[in-house]
Amino acid sequence: MTGLTFDIHRFSLNDGPGIRTTVFLKGCYLNCEWCHNPESQSFKPQLSFNSEKCLHCFECVKACPNNAHKIKDEKHFVDWNSCDLAGKCVEVCPSGVLKIIGANTDFEFIISEVMKDKKYYDKTGGGITISGGEPIAQFEFTKELLVEAKKNGLHTVLDTCGYGEKSHYEEILSYVELFLFDYKLTDEKLHKEFTGVTNNEILANLDFLYNNGASIVLRCPLIPGINDNEDHLKGIKEIIRKYPALKSVEIMPYHNMGRDKASRVGMEYKLSETKKVDDSDKQRWMSYFSEEQLNVILN
Ligand code: SF4
Ligand code: SF4
Repeated sequence: MTGLTFDIHRFSLNDGPGIRTTVFLKGCYLNCEWCHNPESQSFKPQLSFNSEKCLHCFECVKACPNNAHKIKDEKHFVDWNSCDLAGKCVEVCPSGVLKIIGANTDFEFIISEVMKDKKYYDKTGGGITISGGEPIAQFEFTKELLVEAKKNGLHTVLDTCGYGEKSHYEEILSYVELFLFDYKLTDEKLHKEFTGVTNNEILANLDFLYNNGASIVLRCPLIPGINDNEDHLKGIKEIIRKYPALKSVEIMPYHNMGRDKASRVGMEYKLSETKKVDDSDKQRWMSYFSEEQLNVILN
């Protein structure tokens, strides 16, 4: 079985306990405006062009059969709609600034890659993390990966936005040792405005997983001007109190790493004007949770 992936990242330290290999699946039901992997959102492969490192040799212009590489006023840009993703330009580019993001990858290949670092997982309590995009959006593939990972004695983490069919979470529950579960916005309407979906299904899935014994780290991205307000901080606090056996809560300050990645695949990045998170933001956020019994960590 194959799935659409866009990266296999070895020696990850931020995607669960210990040293891990994180497998990134392409495609997400949500389109969060702050997404730090905007290239993960589409369920299709995409051409990526890093114009800042382009040598202006224009070999790509000659190689492209669809005239997707254009020069105007000495500026090189891509006509994304004309690209057929066959990658002729990628083959001739001498600087490696063109690449196709997303490839159908066999689960056996992924497991063999992950197993290369088994000795490090065993020493550090690490393993495999399946991330995205949204892994549940490629449910059969994700399940296959989890089953195979368990057969190989790997510790398993699923990084999820929480949006998906409850039956899917139910089916994989016994194969996942830790869920990294996002909680993005408390206000239902704002959740829809900034992510494309409401949070009802997400909250129902969180409730289901929690009440069925899942080990869960709640991950809360905080974005200045969007969700770092009293209403949402209070919402996080209510979740903490409702689910006291959560393993921990991670506060994840916004950064704009997604901006350049978005422009490389021709996507609009709507948060260009969003202010950077500073120490006073972090202090304010963390002080809000200082009296909670639960482990609230600044990530
Ligand atoms: S859920 Fe995650 S991967 Fe999906 S759009 Fe939001 S931040 Fe990006
Ligand atoms: S082939 Fe590569 S380096 Fe040359 S113009 Fe095209 S993108 Fe730039």
